[in-house]
Amino acid sequence: MDRALLKKQSTDNAVEEIKNRLDIIETVSEHIVLKKSGRNYWGLCPFHKEKTPSFSVNAEKGIYKCFGCGEGGDSISFLMKVNNTSFWETMVMLAQKFNIELPEAGVTSESSEYKKQILEINKYAAEFYKKMLLENKEAKNYLLKRGINETIIEEFSLGFAPVSADELIKKYDKDILQKIGLLSFKNRIIIPIQDEKGNFIAFGARAMADSQGPKYLNSPESPVFNKSRSLFGLYQAKDSIKELDSVILMEGYFDVISAHSHGLANVVATLGTALTEQHIRIVARYSESRRIYLAFDSDEAGVNATNRGAEIIKSAFSGLGEIRHFDENFADSTVKQDRTACEIRVITTNTGKDPDEFLREHGAEAYKELINSAPLLIDYQINRIINLNEKISSPQDKAKLGKEVIPLLSEIRNSIIRNEYIKLVAGRLSIDEESLNIEVRKNLQKVTYPQANKNGLLFKNQEEKYVLAQKNLLSLYFLNNEKFAPLCINNYIKEVELSDTHLNLIKKHIDEIIDEFNDSDKLFKELLNKLAENEEAKKVLTDLIYRVEDKKDLNFELLEQYLTDHILYLKTYQVSERQKQLRASYYADNNDDTSSELHQQKVKELISERRL
Ligand SMILES: [Zn+2]
Repeated sequence: MDRALLKKQSTDNAVEEIKNRLDIIETVSEHIVLKKSGRNYWGLCPFHKEKTPSFSVNAEKGIYKCFGCGEGGDSISFLMKVNNTSFWETMVMLAQKFNIELPEAGVTSESSEYKKQILEINKYAAEFYKKMLLENKEAKNYLLKRGINETIIEEFSLGFAPVSADELIKKYDKDILQKIGLLSFKNRIIIPIQDEKGNFIAFGARAMADSQGPKYLNSPESPVFNKSRSLFGLYQAKDSIKELDSVILMEGYFDVISAHSHGLANVVATLGTALTEQHIRIVARYSESRRIYLAFDSDEAGVNATNRGAEIIKSAFSGLGEIRHFDENFADSTVKQDRTACEIRVITTNTGKDPDEFLREHGAEAYKELINSAPLLIDYQINRIINLNEKISSPQDKAKLGKEVIPLLSEIRNSIIRNEYIKLVAGRLSIDEESLNIEVRKNLQKVTYPQANKNGLLFKNQEEKYVLAQKNLLSLYFLNNEKFAPLCINNYIKEVELSDTHLNLIKKHIDEIIDEFNDSDKLFKELLNKLAENEEAKKVLTDLIYRVEDKKDLNFELLEQYLTDHILYLKTYQVSERQKQLRASYYADNNDDTSSELHQQKVKELISERRL
């Protein structure tokens, strides 16, 4: 085989592998929060401004469609659009991400190699640090004193960085070691930071001696480490988050490690940075009901972090339903899940201790009680205001607190619950209930609530209706109905003329491959392959998949009726359009007798055709 052909073949294989590795939910979730509702996932469209979700993802088919702006396609279309990149740029990016060689696009490239190299060095370093820990009694004792045993040391690959980094320098380039921060760790406990797959992407390093500053050092950001996208402990916690359907967010490395050593495994921490929407999107992927516990420190900084964190979470879930505001036992869990976008609860130790200290002092059972009785965010925030109110006496300060409570109350959508809270707050803050009610209602008008908006686009004129009918018709190829297999649909549709270029192209491909792919799913996959680099056609194809949804429940007779009605409509439309054209040209050249006669002949033919 000649070299060019070989290169092309390996590129095709690479593209194929990238496509197989792509998961639409994962891809889209990196950019917006999705919520499952019915068969599909919904979220706020990243391509147009909206407050209620009309962006839908079909995990089974690996496609998305926005009912607001009409965007649609597969994972690759999504990435091209969201990153504003070409097909090849997107492929290059993905090849680098998945560490797949893409020779034709020149991806054996430095950046991919550099990433690989960092991961390799980090892996080696983690092993080296672990070996050093086992050899260093002082460091091992330090961990044992903090209640961390060998199982946990193993699970988190904890280590110790000696004063000398010679062992690393002997093996790797000093400049790179310097760049990724490994030369700055001296006489420190090493806490490796892993990504979701377990790769070592960075390190945290805690000073052994109190005289040693700073207390913590972290690896700098690198091509493999982005603080605002990484959560400490996720690799160890992800299974438990899924299983318990909840996640506890803490502040420090040792909070997380301590929680794990006390048998609480659904715990992660941000890495010395404030919580970001990206963090929330990551944990949202693992917990379906999105129950998020904020377990920050109880000091003032911790309270601020809690409030800020809550805002970030709300913003990440905005438009997807309400934040859970009350503990209802009467509604069953599926109803609850569908109505609420997420549930935020706050764990406070009240003793001013951080989770690590609390766990070591009071044990796992006591902390589990704190989890079980953790108030919903709204209760936590209102309680805080009530407690503050009891500590102050100046009327101005009290008025200020009253103002703080109004936006909280306005967020409660259920009016019965809201009124209960207003009564409670008015009583505790000694404010007039009616005036608080009025203030809250004024504020309510500013808050918009999500409404279901899943209707298709309304067509504006006859021509749009005509194209829509063509789409409806072609969508039937994807019915996945044994009685209406693609070949059978093809028998009906074979002779139908299509006016839309993309539909024509799709139909042309269908005709070419239908003998080989007489199965809706396989046909769709093959079409996606054929149209891989044609974004517009892919958008139309996605649209067809969504259009077929509401036809899946129709029985054989109704489907047949639907087919024949549509075919008749299309034919009638085409005939009347041709008549219009003929009439126009008849009037344009009615001086010419022969051409007039010809026209009349054609009109007659058309009329008889229409009677069919
Ligand atoms: Zn949109």
